[in-house]
Amino acid sequence: MKEVADGVFVHRHAELDLTTGLVLGADRAVVIDTCGDRAQGAALAAAVRRVTALPLTVVLTHGHFDHCFGTAAFPPGPVLAHPGCRAFLARTADGQRAEWVARYRAEGRADLAAALGRSAPVLPAAAPASLELGGRTVELIACGPAHTDHDLAVHVPDGDVLFAGDLVESGAPPDYGDAHPSGWASVVAALPRASVTVPGHGEPMDPDGVAAQLAELREVAGLVSAVAAGELTTAEARARSPHPGVAW
Ligand SMILES: [Zn+2]
Repeated sequence: MKEVADGVFVHRHAELDLTTGLVLGADRAVVIDTCGDRAQGAALAAAVRRVTALPLTVVLTHGHFDHCFGTAAFPPGPVLAHPGCRAFLARTADGQRAEWVARYRAEGRADLAAALGRSAPVLPAAAPASLELGGRTVELIACGPAHTDHDLAVHVPDGDVLFAGDLVESGAPPDYGDAHPSGWASVVAALPRASVTVPGHGEPMDPDGVAAQLAELREVAGLVSAVAAGELTTAEARARSPHPGVAW
């Protein structure tokens, strides 16, 4: 775990280049995302316990399996997310598992396929707007439709850090699989500005990195409007996309 501000940690994972977080208060700590299966979640929980013995609250940025299927490995405690996350997981968890078990098997990664096959998400409760950790308050920002219909960002104002989940990514294009591309840019534009923005995958970003990604999301939103207005075909729009080859 790397400390990016006082009591604010970022943990990078080899699998899918996932990035998770830990925020310490005087009385409680918050874990942000729990990895993609119970075994990876247990490894993350052990890494958390090397940093703190505080009671833990888990906050999920969204319901894609790689961010939340490891929750059951954590000690019993609150699990919070956007109000829409619970229904999304109830609806999609089995499908997500089946899709990725097949994908890992096809890639010859039997261990990961087996670990995911044994994992099920803990269904989260609706997050309040903020959490008091003892001498520190974190803001839980439930966003409008963007990367998914239930994205949640975690702002640590006194550390000047924002955990943005997959609303931003570094080192890879945004994932549009469940996305709402026409609204995504305005959601990112409305997020609090922070010195350090932690993406769902990849290295923490500075404000210039976030601004660059916002510009690309705006470009995609413009292309989507042009398709809706009949000015471009979908194929023409995708050919002009800042993320060539990424479907949206
Ligand atoms: Zn995602």
